Order: sequence, then structure tokens, then C-alpha cells
Amino acid sequence: MPSAAAASSVGFVTHADCLKHEMGTHHPERPQRLDSIEQHIAASDLGARLVRHQAPLATDEQLSRVHPIEYVRAIRDAAPEHGTVHLDPDTAMNPHTLGAALRAAGAAVLATDLVMKNSVRAAFASVRPPGHHACRARPMGFCIFNNVAVAAKHALEAHGLERVAIIDFDVHHGNGTEDIFEGDPQVLMASTFQHPFYPYSGTDGASNMFNVPLAAGSGSRELRKAVQDVWLPALEDFRPEMVFFSAGFDAHVEDDMAMLQFVDADYAWVTQQVKAIADRHADGRIVSVLEGGYSLPALGRSAVQHLRVLAGLGG
Ligand SMILES: [Zn+2]
Repeated sequence: MPSAAAASSVGFVTHADCLKHEMGTHHPERPQRLDSIEQHIAASDLGARLVRHQAPLATDEQLSRVHPIEYVRAIRDAAPEHGTVHLDPDTAMNPHTLGAALRAAGAAVLATDLVMKNSVRAAFASVRPPGHHACRARPMGFCIFNNVAVAAKHALEAHGLERVAIIDFDVHHGNGTEDIFEGDPQVLMASTFQHPFYPYSGTDGASNMFNVPLAAGSGSRELRKAVQDVWLPALEDFRPEMVFFSAGFDAHVEDDMAMLQFVDADYAWVTQQVKAIADRHADGRIVSVLEGGYSLPALGRSAVQHLRVLAGLGG
């Protein structure tokens, strides 16, 4: 069991290299996203609760648990020495992107190690590029390596867990995570997302996928109904030994990337619901990995709401 102090501390894993990845001055997935999270943490009561760690580089062994090694090598080979290379219309690499992507996946792995060795009860990877659109062998939608999937597989294969859950409340369906874990009896994925909307998937998943598509304009009420009617019963049945969040904050009403209407308090509420499952079945073990969130103020405030609950500071 964690010590009393550890029980209320949250590991916070990030790296300055994640700020150097840039995809163009007007691209919404920009370095300032991580700065906004830092600024809102600094203005909050979280400071003493966070235990900061530098993200290591993910290894080929860790990445190749979810991506074919040929894909990992192709990404390494695509990294430019100068200028920008596009991997898809939305996803580009500059000379710093490979390092950022390796740190982002490495942060999720370290967060998992910190929680598994009881040094903290929960840990958050404040990283970019995000990961949940990255399929087994395809970069997509700002994502290169599937950070949360790499972490979940690390928990299963390096730490010997048998069941982990991935909770994805990003406004976009986590199609990459579904591609990697569809039909895997060791992984349950529960998600909400705007539909129909990019990436236009998530409505015909396998039996381990608990996806709840939400119509444009949906907000707190629809989120709460989805969580209570679909996620929580599935999670109670599954009894995960560790819970991962794909924590995207782009369903916020102030985020003009999409048309859902979540508010700050929804992120505290959903975190609390899932934390209760983790407390009951997983000795409280939670790893959360940043995905989307493009309104800088809403992202910073929502991330603080999420982190405060993880730190036991309530909603
Ligand atoms: Zn998103």
C-alpha cells in the first residue's frame, strides 16, 4: 500500500522536448498547450501535491508491444534534419518531433512504473504529441505513437497485470487505441466522443469497447448518463487492476475544435466516478495521459480539475 503521503501525491511527468515539436504557426496542437497546463497548476493548490519527473525516451521494446517495429523504424527514418515532413494532412514532424514523440510515450511508461511501484497512487503525463489516433501502423490526427496504449501494454507485459481499462473522454473517438486493443480480453476501453465527427469511427466496436457516441450539442447531462449507464457497469464487471485515462479536454464548450459542451466541473466529476472504480478494484492505480484540448484557458482549467481529483482534493 502507498504511504499516506504517497496516497495524495500525483506523479507529473513531462519534458521540455515536448515543447519543441511544432507543426506550423497556425496548428491547434501547439506547444502553448503544455504551458497553459503549467500556468493553471501554478495558480492552483496543486503544487505541493505534484511529484515532478522528467520523461525518458520510450524504447523500441516498449513501442513495439503496440506498433510493428517496422513502423517504429519508419517514423525514425521519416524524422527530418531540417524543415517539416507531413505524415498525414494534420500530422507533421519537425527536427524535434521524434524526440517529443519518444518522450511522450516514455512519459506514459514512467507514469505506469511510478504507480506500479507505489511511489504515487496516480500519475499524469503532460505531453505532446498526443496518441489516441495513432493506429498500430499508421500515424494520424496529430498522433505518432499511441502513448496510452504503450503504457497499458507496459502494465500488462512488464508488470504482469491481467486486466486494465482505458477511459477516453476526448471529443474525438480514440480509433488508434481501438485498432490496437479491439478484441483483447485484457483491455476494456470506455469512451465518449462526438459523432458523427472525425475520425468517423467507434460505432461498431468489439465487445471490449464501450463507446458512447454523443450528438453535437451534448453536454454534462449526456456525459453523465453515458458514464452511469454504460461505463460504470462495464467497469464494475471487468474489475480493472489499473485504470488509464486518455485525457483529452477538447469536448469543453469553449473548445471550438468540436461541438460538445462539457464544462470544467464535468472533468472533476468524470474523474471522480472512475477514481471510485480504481479505488475499489485497482488499489487506486491511475495513469492519465494528455490527448486533445485546444482552447488554452479551458485546457488548463480542465486539466487542473482532473488533477485535483487524482490528488484527493475533491471536485
Ligand atoms: Zn481530440
